Amino acid sequence: MNKYIIIGIQGCGKGTQTQLLQRDFDLVHISVGEIIRWHIENHTKLAARIHRLVNAGTLVPDDVVEQIVHRRLEEHDWNYGFVLDGFPRNVPQAEFLMESYDVDNVIHITISDEVVLQRVLARRLCSKCGLDYNFIYHRPAAKDICDICGGELVRREDDNEHSVRERINHYHLKTEPVLDLFRTKKLMVDIDGDDTPENIQSSIRRKLALPPV
Ligand SMILES: [Zn+2]
Repeated sequence: MNKYIIIGIQGCGKGTQTQLLQRDFDLVHISVGEIIRWHIENHTKLAARIHRLVNAGTLVPDDVVEQIVHRRLEEHDWNYGFVLDGFPRNVPQAEFLMESYDVDNVIHITISDEVVLQRVLARRLCSKCGLDYNFIYHRPAAKDICDICGGELVRREDDNEHSVRERINHYHLKTEPVLDLFRTKKLMVDIDGDDTPENIQSSIRRKLALPPV
């Protein structure tokens, strides 16, 4: 069984890397973001609580996230293991996870702040059908026009340089103590995320001693 945590800033490509691991090793992808979206789409009690908090301008608090992850892990449907994404968010959560689930490795995908900024600022969203674009990886055929529906491509409101830099700083501030802990426990592998998805995946497998792609 392989139990991994994947950590990386938004835009680092961890979603793609997790999919590749999931596909070849039957790992269950436990994504906090996806679980939260599911709750919101299904109008659960938890979604109502999250709505209130987000409307009040706060991020989803750590204890709510903790509750979500505990419930999800307790389903024990991960016979071959899991890749946990979006958790832990602080040192006590990281300690709990190591003690309770005997995590094998932490995959830490690193990219520079400038690359994050470039990637996030290259994102666009179709104002009509909601399809995502990124001018670095997924360009539309015609400038600022959706390939599918002809709608206008726009930036998300909070994808401006100021907000992105704030998110980057917040990420570092929150994540560094958790990274330090995993580093001390010798669980962490650092992976250079400024490369092609194929090369990143190869490097993950090499460092985790998994069979190559
Ligand atoms: Zn569209």
